[in-house]
Amino acid sequence: MSVEQQIDKLLSRMTLQEKIRQMIQTGTFEEADKEKIRMGRIGSVLGVTGADLVNELQRIAVEESRLGIPLLIAGDVIHGYRTTFPIPLAEACSWNMALIEETAAVAAREASAAGIHWILAPMVDIARDPRWGRVAEGAGEDVWLAAAIARARVAGIQRNDWEDRPHMVACPKHFAGYGLAEAGRDYNTVDVSERRLRETYFPPFQAALEAGAGTMMCAFNELNGVPCTGNRWLLTDVLQQEWGFQGFVVSDWESIDELVQHGFAESREEAARIAIEAGVHMDMQARVYNEYLEQLVNRGIVPESVIDEAVRRILRIKFRAGLFDQPYTPPEHAASLLLHPDHVRTARAMARESIVLLKNEHNVLPLTSRVRKLAVVGPLADDRAAVLGCWAGQGRSEDAVSILQGIVATAEPDVEIMFCRGWREETAEPDIAQAVDIVRQCETAVVVLGETADMSGENNSRTSIELPSGQLELLKAIHATGVPVVLVLVNGRPLALEWADRHIPAIVEAWHLGTQAGMAVADILFGKHNPSGKLPITFPRSTGQIPIYYSAKKTGRPGLKRYADSEVEPLYPFGYGLSYTRFEYDRFGISSTEIKAGDTITVSARITNAGTMEGAETVQLYICDEAASITRPVKELKGFAKISLKPGESHLVEFRLSAEQLGFFNADGRYVVEPGRFTVWIGPDSRGGLCGTFSVIP
Ligand code: BGC
Repeated sequence: MSVEQQIDKLLSRMTLQEKIRQMIQTGTFEEADKEKIRMGRIGSVLGVTGADLVNELQRIAVEESRLGIPLLIAGDVIHGYRTTFPIPLAEACSWNMALIEETAAVAAREASAAGIHWILAPMVDIARDPRWGRVAEGAGEDVWLAAAIARARVAGIQRNDWEDRPHMVACPKHFAGYGLAEAGRDYNTVDVSERRLRETYFPPFQAALEAGAGTMMCAFNELNGVPCTGNRWLLTDVLQQEWGFQGFVVSDWESIDELVQHGFAESREEAARIAIEAGVHMDMQARVYNEYLEQLVNRGIVPESVIDEAVRRILRIKFRAGLFDQPYTPPEHAASLLLHPDHVRTARAMARESIVLLKNEHNVLPLTSRVRKLAVVGPLADDRAAVLGCWAGQGRSEDAVSILQGIVATAEPDVEIMFCRGWREETAEPDIAQAVDIVRQCETAVVVLGETADMSGENNSRTSIELPSGQLELLKAIHATGVPVVLVLVNGRPLALEWADRHIPAIVEAWHLGTQAGMAVADILFGKHNPSGKLPITFPRSTGQIPIYYSAKKTGRPGLKRYADSEVEPLYPFGYGLSYTRFEYDRFGISSTEIKAGDTITVSARITNAGTMEGAETVQLYICDEAASITRPVKELKGFAKISLKPGESHLVEFRLSAEQLGFFNADGRYVVEPGRFTVWIGPDSRGGLCGTFSVIP
């Protein structure tokens, strides 16, 4: 029997009640729920882990419920399970798709060993507002990069390179527009044109589906007046009909209930009707479907066929996870897989590639053997919880390496390391006298500042993206000693660093890097690894510049200064990041100056490592459509390649650009490639590069 036939057979045996109960997910499991599972009243459980507990619940579902339908166990595995990887925004700095796929695969392997079947990730929301706390969970501001990362993460989560336990299913989220919350206030209104949705915000979801993602989570926010959870256009017309999605849609946490608070449904019952009609197949935690769907069907308001369709989709995923054949997770894997040395090595490799060198004057970095006395200062220097970041899940601070610990473990034995927090815990204020006293005795100071783990992530937006209160004061006082300073930033979002950029010679963006944070930072500081990260999101000069992103539209007045009190350019552009070596770009070439529909051209440049240290460079391809029937961005990323070069080595990087990639949605909402002139760049970031032009001809 095919899976669809097995589903038909199962559906024909199910009562209406049993069907509806497949559509219920509980996120607050308690003992009493075991009885509900026995009664077939729960289809999915979120937030329980450990193979023993999961197997116990599964045994009740499979052996003691009437139909024996297995549970689908969900988990928020956002950047690692027990081995914690860098936050997703940091991983995006690596531009290394193979490694991003690998960390997702490792996270899935560990989560699977702990009984999870369904990972509520990746978050593929584009975010251009660093005030929004969940910017940490995404891949940054750009559609091309974010789509590539979405593909890699889904491929990793669903790699399923094991045979003896259920398969993992991914859940891209939050569909759609969540990153557009007005003013960066979490859950806020989103008002956006359909063109922009289709051009910028939808493609990472489409990419995740193309990579085979089995499920999708809808977003909390409203979208142009209709909450996503009740948005039939979004969930049915676009997702299911236009894109042919065969999996199921889960609501976000209690978001069906929230249709009432949105002022979109008068009652929970109406919320149930709106959500099921819109195309939400599973109710996460709101218990609205549980309470109201049966009566809505019995009163003829919701056709039973709509319920059948939802259950069919849920069962399809349970079959795909292999749960009917293999519902249990062998408990013995967890002990050997969680924090497996290979996983920890991968965490270190990824953390190193996630670090972005923002500034390095006078070759302060890497720290050489001339530095015999090194000060390590700052409230986050020895904080093992901070480096794990938001959504650390099962990650534990005792498994993490702080920046100080990494430095101590890596420095030559005869280097004296003097540590002080320079911070009064009780008052959360700088202890300037203590810090200055320590720094004065040293030749270089590594100052570790930024955000604790709980300053970013869900419901942790900030009105200001400056360094948190008191930290700049501490930095200024240390700078005033005249001792060279290396600023290491531990944070979950872009920060406004204008003062630091003007005064501090070396700045290392180290984000929330996870379990191996300290080792990776030390590898960079001591030159054991050459930094290669590039920003996936623009760093503004100040909070007031937000939103600011590289792919902005042109204005009619490009020469004007526009701000009375600031430069208009950001501090660090999208794609930016330094290395300890120097890469030179030359021999730019385009294979043809004309391109027709269906054609492809090749754009190339030679990259040479002109420095003395081996290093990796992410070479970026950008285009600009110079004039079109709809105004186009000043630049759009259309390709990238990360290459590794030894000193003196050169490599010719070739990008293939198809006419299809040059299109956009016109005034009628059709995707078109219009004739006209294009500029194309190959460069190290979104600001510079070698360029040429070509034309699309009819
Ligand atoms: C978040 C989701 C998450 C869910 C379950 C919600 O608050 O928006 O991303 O998967 O909670 O924990």
